[in-house]
Amino acid sequence: MKLPTRSKSYMIPEYSLTGDLLSFLTCNLQYRYQNKGTLPPSKPVQRWFGEFIHGVLEEAFIEWKENNTEFPWDWKEDIRPIEDLIDLRLQVRGLYPHDEDLFYSILNQPDNDLTIDDLNEHDHKKLASARAEKAINIWGKHLFPLIDSSELLIKGIRQMPNYDKNKSRSNYYGINGVVDVLTSMKINDLEQTTLDTFDNEIIRFLKKDPDFQKRVSEFGEEDYEIIIDYKGMKRPPVKVTNEKIEDKWETHKQQILTYSWLRSKQEEAKPIIAGIIFYLNELVPSKEDLVLIKDELNNDLTDVGLEFESDVDLINNWEEEDKAPELSDEFKIARSIRVINVNDEETNTALLKFDSVVSNIEESLIKEMKGCKIQEAWKADSDERTCSACDFKTFCKNNSVKTKDFKIP
Ligand code: SF4
Repeated sequence: MKLPTRSKSYMIPEYSLTGDLLSFLTCNLQYRYQNKGTLPPSKPVQRWFGEFIHGVLEEAFIEWKENNTEFPWDWKEDIRPIEDLIDLRLQVRGLYPHDEDLFYSILNQPDNDLTIDDLNEHDHKKLASARAEKAINIWGKHLFPLIDSSELLIKGIRQMPNYDKNKSRSNYYGINGVVDVLTSMKINDLEQTTLDTFDNEIIRFLKKDPDFQKRVSEFGEEDYEIIIDYKGMKRPPVKVTNEKIEDKWETHKQQILTYSWLRSKQEEAKPIIAGIIFYLNELVPSKEDLVLIKDELNNDLTDVGLEFESDVDLINNWEEEDKAPELSDEFKIARSIRVINVNDEETNTALLKFDSVVSNIEESLIKEMKGCKIQEAWKADSDERTCSACDFKTFCKNNSVKTKDFKIP
């Protein structure tokens, strides 16, 4: 009797929007070591803040839903316990803040006599805390009443680009992502503002966007959805002057468009009309952020800011060694929100871009599987800022930062 042989396992490679697309575009080789080699970065401060602010907003929303706590929230009483909880969750995963970013956790620390009353004004002003407070009190109060679901996992499948049955690993690949927030609204409510939306800053921004209005008029009386994403960073420049620098403005748009395609494949989805990105560092910019904002305002590299003349003067008169200028809330709010209109043509372009990134990753992976050396299979190319924070700069042949001063102790 001939025993049947087990068929070859069928595996569809999975790619995530943030973990793969954004990370691969930053630097192919760094992506290979960090994601495929599962080597976590040694100083993941940027990642810490991103995860911290997402966690704080998610937890704040749950708290608001349960207790309907009125805004503005008190930092010490309402916000600090949430920060503490998220900080501890991140510590378990090996992610720690810098001292200047956050007061260290006081919960569950046996050798620690500190209580919440030991916190002072200085701790409140630490960067991550100040941003968390502004994010909740400025955007939370407008956003939370609009939320339909949060942290929504979306998945989809696409044909493998440049599929070759003798070379490719699979004929399909999977895309996944997590939508921070999904809001659902009725167009009639938006037009007549019968919701309690008259004072809603988010609706106000949407209503003054002409592309958004045009899209609304195409939809008739349907319900629709808006995808919302938080970013723990400043508003990126609208164009990049150095081709080595990743065009974050464009990749964030592609991310929203790809999310909207993935969401549209889910059964209960309503038409997705737009996406909103909140750039939360804009609410409390660091000195490093201010240097970049100043440069972008003066070189026509940003789409929001120049209309606030007094804020522009304050920024132009500010030097790095000075105290941060007191910018107006209007300036900070306008810079922290970006509306991205969703349309089929641009969504298709974003998906093709994702396909081409997957194709490049697959090509490098297959080269490596066939025995090619890692540094030859994956392109190493990034800007000076990324290279100087990269853990692999000491042995990467193409890094933009000279490491001749590096000494082994
Ligand atoms: S040093 Fe620069 S080019 Fe090399 S892997 Fe790191 S980010 Fe990429």
